[in-house]
Amino acid sequence: MGFATTAIHAGNEPDPTTGAVTVPIYQTSTYAQDGLGRHKGYEYARTQNPTRHAVEQNIAALEGARFGYAFASGMAAIDSTLRLIKAGEHVIVSDNTYGGTFRLFSRVLANYGIEFSFVDTTDASNVEAAIKENTRMVFVETPTNPVMMVTDLQAVSTIAHRAGARVVCDNTFMSPYLQRPLEFGVDIVVHSTTKYLNGHSDSVGGIVVLNDERDAEWLQFIQNSVGAILSPFDSWLVLRGTKTLAVRMEQHDASGRSVAAFLEEHPKVQKLYYPGSVSHRQHDLAKRQQRGFGGMVAFDVGSLANASTVLEQVRVCTLAESLGGVETLISHPATMTHASVLPETRERLGITDGLVRISVGLEDVDDIIADLDQALGKIA
Ligand SMILES: *Cc1c(COP(=O)(O)O)cnc(C)c1O
Repeated sequence: MGFATTAIHAGNEPDPTTGAVTVPIYQTSTYAQDGLGRHKGYEYARTQNPTRHAVEQNIAALEGARFGYAFASGMAAIDSTLRLIKAGEHVIVSDNTYGGTFRLFSRVLANYGIEFSFVDTTDASNVEAAIKENTRMVFVETPTNPVMMVTDLQAVSTIAHRAGARVVCDNTFMSPYLQRPLEFGVDIVVHSTTKYLNGHSDSVGGIVVLNDERDAEWLQFIQNSVGAILSPFDSWLVLRGTKTLAVRMEQHDASGRSVAAFLEEHPKVQKLYYPGSVSHRQHDLAKRQQRGFGGMVAFDVGSLANASTVLEQVRVCTLAESLGGVETLISHPATMTHASVLPETRERLGITDGLVRISVGLEDVDDIIADLDQALGKIA
């Protein structure tokens, strides 16, 4: 079955009671039982909900996984995944990971005896060098936010597995349409469904998918024990979102390439960050590992003043955090998404005051480019 067919049908069985073709929003906290110990597989809605179950099955199928668990946010999904790790164990993390992930690991989970090493995973030998006796997980994000650095999933998986560690990939930037990490040996995929999977900037959620039965059992246990579950309504929204994932990602990818090509030639743009550009130092790896390059583009206009001009002059693009929705969003990582990252780390990663990030949306691409052109033209 092709990707679009799976996206529309996996988990989306017609409702058994009415035949409704769309999975209903089961807005209930509990379920009537026929007798003691006799029920229809549903007892209490933190534990089981048919709408949530449908979206879990749907996204697991899209990633080629057996099991899926949906959470109240991407961060809740990542936090629950880290519950596979115990005090005294060690986790290697991409040093250019999403700011919220860095904050969760370094400020919260580090207080519970979990040890983290943040390394540049774009060079797999750094992962090898960071492996310790107690390493049990390697957590990578590729491409990274916002400077679009790519990690070789196959190389990192081989190194991690030799050391008996699981590999987790945050696949939020690509979506399973453009990248399927499990095919490269990754063990667990996490997403903020808030972004491309839901795709319409109207829901916050997260998901974890995996194949290993024992880890899946534990994640289900954590989902029920901790209770950071995705609500029925949000489950329904994400389920609606993934039905159009294939066509949306095709367009995000095509428009992303056009916007990147425009920016690369623009005299006010000093540096472009887009794996689809042949000037990107990991273009070949991105081509091998991804089906496309997606809609995330970052570029440097040299100074905070120039970045402010662009961000304040745009009309079609909206100045906002987040990404992956139908509307083009433009943001300033240094003061917005990456404000909690140490200044010297920002500098090293290329997250300068002049860096601007765009999530290229689904408007007519000519309108997006014309908008950026007029805004860049206002730079003194
Ligand atoms: C947004 C995002 C998250 C966090 O997800 P929330 O739904 O905001 O909690 C994690 N990773 C990446 C790459 C993200 O873009």
